[in-house]
Amino acid sequence: MCDYIGKDFGADYPDSICINGYLWDMDSGHSDPSGEFDWLYTNGGEMPCPECNPSNLIQGMYEENQNIIDSDYMECPICGGVLRDDYGWADQICEYCGKNIWE
Ligand SMILES: [Zn+2]
Ligand SMILES: [Zn+2]
Repeated sequence: MCDYIGKDFGADYPDSICINGYLWDMDSGHSDPSGEFDWLYTNGGEMPCPECNPSNLIQGMYEENQNIIDSDYMECPICGGVLRDDYGWADQICEYCGKNIWE
């Protein structure tokens, strides 16, 4: 959990809050009838927090993109950035570090 606040749920004001590394929609939920928590969020919990949970974020993006386009991914062996196979792997330049991953 960190103090991340972002606009990840479609509002034009900050509407996302980080709880245990995952983002929740601040516009969702209700107060906790048991009084144990200040507020119970009902929408969220799937988007990893970019601030305190970035490794899961890459994995999440990977899975999300995988569902949209049937494309191949691999990790740059030099910087660890996630690369997409747009033009075939034969001559792939890493878009993050600019190095040819096959050299
Ligand atoms: Zn966080
Ligand atoms: Zn790289």
